[in-house]
Amino acid sequence: MFRTPGEVFEKERRYIMPTYKRQPIVLIEGKGAVVTDITGKEYIDCVGGIAVNAVGYSHPAVVHAIQTQAAKLMHVSNLYYTEPQVRLAEKLTALTGMAKTFFCNSGAESIEAAVKLAVKETGKSRFVAARGSFHGRTIISLSTTYEPKFRAPFMPLLLKSVEFVPYNDSDAVREAIDDETAAVILEPIQGESGIRVPSPSYLKEVREICTEKDVLLIFDEVQTGFGRTGAWFGKDHEGIQPDIMTLAKALGAGFPIGAMLARGGLEFEAGEHASTFGGTPLACATALASIRVIEDEKLVERSRDLGAYFLEHARSEHGLASSPVVKELRGKGLMIGIELARPCAEFVGQALEHGILINCTADTVIRLVPPLIISKEQLNTVLTVLRGIME
Ligand SMILES: *Cc1c(COP(=O)(O)O)cnc(C)c1O
Repeated sequence: MFRTPGEVFEKERRYIMPTYKRQPIVLIEGKGAVVTDITGKEYIDCVGGIAVNAVGYSHPAVVHAIQTQAAKLMHVSNLYYTEPQVRLAEKLTALTGMAKTFFCNSGAESIEAAVKLAVKETGKSRFVAARGSFHGRTIISLSTTYEPKFRAPFMPLLLKSVEFVPYNDSDAVREAIDDETAAVILEPIQGESGIRVPSPSYLKEVREICTEKDVLLIFDEVQTGFGRTGAWFGKDHEGIQPDIMTLAKALGAGFPIGAMLARGGLEFEAGEHASTFGGTPLACATALASIRVIEDEKLVERSRDLGAYFLEHARSEHGLASSPVVKELRGKGLMIGIELARPCAEFVGQALEHGILINCTADTVIRLVPPLIISKEQLNTVLTVLRGIME
């Protein structure tokens, strides 16, 4: 047992590669939207495992599903059938309107699968992606990720066949498409680059362009999925369907699982793609339990309403927006960005001291993606604390 945070920091420094800039707390448990550190201090969590913990921490229904399934059958090879996997695939196709599912273990893997499927189905290999995009850290997903500092050390390995166009500019997509383009890949709302919400017509226009030019449209809904934006999926705000979509983050309520779904007529054949851990009984049973919680507790509507409430209050007369530090407030549902006029790192530390976890993305944007079960009261506390530290 560790007695102080310092002992954990010390071992982390010694044994773990320093890929993460961590906040100086050691978290040991969570309940609802609150996490507790090793010293017993509690925090309202507006990071939520970065849009993963949609149903909050230790939800009894999810814990029960994990315990029951783990005691029964955790993993078997995909050489055999399992019930949770087919049930989850049926559920996901019903929720998304897509036809078939491939299961993997993370967001980046779901992008790998999407890109491979698009190349295989079209026989083409060029892609159009957006500036500001984030699709993951594996070589293919990083190839479609814009941020130069993520890409720089790996440039020699990255695909040369990805063209980046300005986000929220459908004409730019049209111009970038050529005879060799397999697909256009977009986030319905850009997460990592600072909660960039496109104008209402953008995704629809891109959908029409892709249809007209016979190019596949891939929506990366890894972050926007499962009620995060106040609809089941980001695409649902526009009432459009991509040809391929990717899911991960909130899918498993914190248990690692990803999925790539495609419309009818697009699929891998036997042997063309695979994953040892893709869609284990344990992962799928957990995801099914989490989806049931989202349905039963009406968390999609809750996300929509609480997100609107938060933005309205933040924009009210003495709200957050009136602070000179705040440049812009934006978001949909409980996917909220507060863009500051200066780097937000210092505010992350101050919020932490006041018992609030927030995340700073793209240097100047505070990203709030709390569990969708967060209470209005807790959001009020968040508003008060943020207002206080920005004064
Ligand atoms: C987080 C994220 C990914 C990558 O997911 P990992 O599970 O970290 O590989 C891909 N796309 C989007 C939009 C994301 O937010």
